[in-house]
Amino acid sequence: MNDHLSEPGGKVRLFVEAPLAEAAHVQASEAQAHYLLHVMRARAGDRVSLFNGHDGEWLAQIRDVKKSGCAFGCEQQTRTQVDTPDLWLCFAPIKKTPADYLTQKATELGVSVLQPVITRRTIVSRVNTGRMRANAIEASEQSERLSVPEIREPVLLEKLIAAWPTERQLIFCDEAGQAPPLAQVLRGATSAWAVLTGPEGGFDPTEREMIRSKPFVTPVSLGPRILRADTAGLAAVAVWQALAGDWR
Ligand code: SAH
Repeated sequence: MNDHLSEPGGKVRLFVEAPLAEAAHVQASEAQAHYLLHVMRARAGDRVSLFNGHDGEWLAQIRDVKKSGCAFGCEQQTRTQVDTPDLWLCFAPIKKTPADYLTQKATELGVSVLQPVITRRTIVSRVNTGRMRANAIEASEQSERLSVPEIREPVLLEKLIAAWPTERQLIFCDEAGQAPPLAQVLRGATSAWAVLTGPEGGFDPTEREMIRSKPFVTPVSLGPRILRADTAGLAAVAVWQALAGDWR
């Protein structure tokens, strides 16, 4: 057995779609097999951790090693499934590198949904949700999450607000108007929430007015400095986790 795969804390964690249960047999994807066999130099009998977002975490043995693939045999459950806090991050997409970064970091911080939102001043015309999903899976594997955040297809701001599930509170990060500090709004908060941040150039005045007019919206300030879009989203998620999420 390879030492680097068996040492405590050094075990490779992989997300799979298949059900996980005692003696379950799970086929590795091509990319997983390549990573394990050719990058990590794993062999049959080496162990990995698997999770699928439903069945907790499982210790599994690598088996059926062939030139181009391998499978896993589930041995025992090492963690039971726990719910991720119910926090969506709705963000106006920003240029390529920050969107990757935002996906990875928001996943580490523990969001449940990432929703790209197209606003009037959004510069980015195409959002690569496949790439976002790959980033979210990798960050989930590394951060010991038991689930991968859902990556939604981009939606126009007007449509997002029109179809909003009204029992969910929407934290509107609004640097341009009078708004209470986020921590004040979250004091004693329960229920389902979402954070909304704008693009590089901010929301335009009609958008701000439309968002602010909805009963499920709470405008908040993230302090006296203007944050970049990616900083604003991540900062709001961190404060929410500390006051209303699973950092308590
Ligand atoms: N209005 C500015 C900057 C937009 S910053 C401009 O015209 O260039 C991008 C987004 O980050 C904003 O739309 C807002 O959602 C969020 N944001 C940045 N700083 C903030 C702050 N101090 N308080 C609340 N939201 C903030």
